Amino acid sequence: MRSKTPAEPLMNDGLDADPPSKRALQYVLKKKEEGWPVAGIYCGYAPLELMHAMGIVPALLCAFSKVPIESAEEVLPANLCPLIKSSYGFIQEGTCPFFTAADVVVAETTCDGKKKMFELISELRPLHVMDLPQMPEEEGAVDNWRRMIIRLKQFLEDKTGRSATDEQIEEAIVWSNKKNRLARKIFEFAACEPPVISWKEIYDISFLAMPSTGPDIVPLLEEKLDKLKKRRQNGEYFGTPDSPRVLVTGCPIGGDAAKIFRVVEEAGGLVVAPDSCTGTKIFNGDFAENTGDPVGSLAERYLKLPCACMTPNTERMTALSSIIETYKPDVVIDFILQACHGYNVESHRVARHVTENHGVAFLKVETDYSDADVGQLKTRVEALFETLPAKAAAS
Ligand code: SF4
Ligand code: SF4
Repeated sequence: MRSKTPAEPLMNDGLDADPPSKRALQYVLKKKEEGWPVAGIYCGYAPLELMHAMGIVPALLCAFSKVPIESAEEVLPANLCPLIKSSYGFIQEGTCPFFTAADVVVAETTCDGKKKMFELISELRPLHVMDLPQMPEEEGAVDNWRRMIIRLKQFLEDKTGRSATDEQIEEAIVWSNKKNRLARKIFEFAACEPPVISWKEIYDISFLAMPSTGPDIVPLLEEKLDKLKKRRQNGEYFGTPDSPRVLVTGCPIGGDAAKIFRVVEEAGGLVVAPDSCTGTKIFNGDFAENTGDPVGSLAERYLKLPCACMTPNTERMTALSSIIETYKPDVVIDFILQACHGYNVESHRVARHVTENHGVAFLKVETDYSDADVGQLKTRVEALFETLPAKAAAS
C-alpha cells in the first residue's frame, strides 16, 4: 500500500534533521541573552509557570546519550539507570550546553538514584531539591507540594534576584493552558488513521514548547496547527493505513533511547502516542484558573502527573485508558530503562490494564542506551506485529 508522506516537514526551519533539543537550546540561549536567568531541570514535576512568571527560563538538562556514561561510571555504580548516569556524565565532562548556561538547578525527590546524583551536582551549581509527595491521593499531599513550590520560589528569588506576584503567576498559568491545549490539538493529528503527524514532529513540538513561555510559542503552535489541517485536507499522512499503530509508554525517551521508535518504524509500525515526560505527557490536563491561589493551582495540576514514583499511580491507568481510546493503538510498548524499579514493577499493572481492560497487545521492553539489543528488539516487535489481526483493506 502506498504512503502519501507529507511533502514538507512540520517545523521546516532548517533544523528538521537535528535532535529536537537543538531548537530548545537556541530558545534558552536567546532568553539568556535577553537577561533571563536559566534554571536547569530534569523532571516533569518542575513548575514551569512559576519560572516563566519570574522571568526565568527552564532548560531540560541533557540525559539521553550513551557517550558520557563510561566516564559517569567512574563515580556512579554501573547498575544504575542510564538516564541518571548519562545526566551525571554530561555534567562531569562539561558537555551539556544547557547546564553550562544554567544559573541554578531545580530537582525533585522522584527516585533514589536521582536524589543521590543531585547531591553531587549541588557541588557545581546552586541546586534546590523539592520534596515530592509520593502518595498523591493522601490528605494534605497537595498542600505539602504547594509548600514546596513556595520554597522553590524563595530559592529562585535568593539566587536570581527575580520574583513574581500572584497575578504574574496567574498570567503564566493562563498562557500555559493555551500552550498545552494547542499542543494537545497538534498531537491529536496522530489519532488520525493513518496519522498526519510523525513521532519526530511531536518531539520537535514538545521539546521546544517545554521551556517556552506561552506568548513566545503560541503563535508558532497556531501556525503548525493550520499546517496540519492543510496536510489532512491534502490527504497527506505517515505510513500506510494498515501499519500497526503503537503507543509507547514508560520512562522518558530521547536521543539514544529513541532506538525504540526507530525499531517500531523499521518493523513497519507507527508510533502514534509517545506517552512519556519527553513526549506528550507533560501537556496533559489544565491548570485551574482564577482560583485566587495560583500556587495551589500549580500544586494540584503537577501532582496529577502520573509518574511511577507515585503510589498508587492510579492517574497513569486513567490516562492510559484515555490515550488508548483517542489514539487507537494496536500495540502498547512499555519502555523501561534498566534499573528503573518504579516503572519496571509498575509494568505488570500496566500490562493487565492494557490487555484486560482494552484488549490491546502489550510488550514490555527493558533496555539501556546501547545499540547492542537493537536486533533483538526488532525481532520481538516484528513477532508481535505478526500476531495482530489483519486490518481491513483501505485505499
Ligand atoms: S518519569 Fe517521573 S521522574 Fe522521570 S521526568 Fe517524568 S515525572 Fe520526572
Ligand atoms: S527513568 Fe526511572 S530510575 Fe531513571 S531517572 Fe527516571 S524515574 Fe529514575
